Amino acid sequence: MNPVSEIITIGDELLIGQTIDTNSAWIGERMSMIGIPVHRIISISDNPEEIRTALAESMRRAAVVLITGGLGPTNDDRTKTTLTDFFGAQLVEDESVLEDILLLLKARNFPMTALNRAQALVPDNCRVIHNPEGTAPGMWWERDGTVVVSMPGVPFEMKALMETTVLPALSSQFKTPAILHKTIMTIGVGESKLASMLEKWESDLPENFSLAYLPSPGMVKVRITGTGDDRALLQLKMAGLTDSLVEIAREYFFGFDEITLEQLVGRLLTENNLTLSTAESCTGGNIARLITRIPGSSAYFQGSIVAYANEMKMKFLDITETMLIKYGAVSQNVVEQMAKSCLLHLNSDFSVATSGIAGPDGGSISKPVGTVWIAVASKKGVVSQCFQFGEHRERNVVKASQTALNMLRIEILKETTSS
Ligand code: AMP
Ligand code: MG
Repeated sequence: MNPVSEIITIGDELLIGQTIDTNSAWIGERMSMIGIPVHRIISISDNPEEIRTALAESMRRAAVVLITGGLGPTNDDRTKTTLTDFFGAQLVEDESVLEDILLLLKARNFPMTALNRAQALVPDNCRVIHNPEGTAPGMWWERDGTVVVSMPGVPFEMKALMETTVLPALSSQFKTPAILHKTIMTIGVGESKLASMLEKWESDLPENFSLAYLPSPGMVKVRITGTGDDRALLQLKMAGLTDSLVEIAREYFFGFDEITLEQLVGRLLTENNLTLSTAESCTGGNIARLITRIPGSSAYFQGSIVAYANEMKMKFLDITETMLIKYGAVSQNVVEQMAKSCLLHLNSDFSVATSGIAGPDGGSISKPVGTVWIAVASKKGVVSQCFQFGEHRERNVVKASQTALNMLRIEILKETTSS
């Protein structure tokens, strides 16, 4: 049987909602990549009894138990003393850990305190794992065929220990199958419609491959997972399966492996030496925010006019009172004019505009909450489309932003590949 792992995250803060357990997500991803998948994640308080019980149970089920948290020097952190008792060890001062701590404190110009010194105390029957980023070392035990590793809770310290020591050691200790994942990103199609499109494809999958759907507002990610002993063969099969899936979902497909629409748009603009601006009403600048999160976006992003009030639409985007009375702010005429004026005034090659009713108020029978008009303009003209994104304000903004970026991507592609 292939080895499986479990994660125990320790800390009162995890249970009262003060800290979100991001360690498990990160560890889960990495462990699946080395072929020792995580079968269970357990979060518990700093209580020694809870620690002992959870560990004993996990050790019965898993070949590897990874623990994070509770290694700080203060009284609220109980993991080290509890594990020392659990494994029948004594705490002894470890010279190399003490040296690590001294160096780290010196580099940060901190004095050595008794609490710091206590961090050099380690159980005498474990393998000590050097912590390149902090003062608490990791600990590694092997008992009854199970590897138990305890690491600090601070995410960047845990990651450093995992990457430098734990993952390589586990990979060489366990003979694991190769596991490959490929994520296919789609937009503009619901999960159930996509699932029915892929039904036949999925039922034809080889036994060692599986498919998972991961919906999020506005998009659905589809993940193909393959497991096997021959990595090269797996890669070959994965490539073929990915191609055939993309072919079926081509209309909605936009990229692979967690790439974002703003990254794709940025890439297209850069490659073609083009610029972009946004005129945003219901998205409130969110599209500009997504674009400018990407390093280097200043090369192609001119700026944004967040014209939330009608007065601003008139003042900065040439919307007239007559248009507002005749069509309303959420209309094809207004959104197209917003995009055209934005293109002109912000002097860009492409522009995108949004105008919608995000809710919860402001809807009517003809324009219910969730109605959003989106337009994309370029020197060649303007295209626009009306969407219905539903009643939830936050999700409306996310969906409108993603959809606007996708329309933009399609228009840039059309213009750059046709000429
Ligand atoms: P500790 O090793 O218990 O002293 O943890 C130090 C800090 O790391 C805590 O205050 C949290 O902010 C953070 N932390 C602990 N456990 C986790 C976790 N599972 N995910 C993310 N952050 C964590
Ligand atoms: Mg703690």
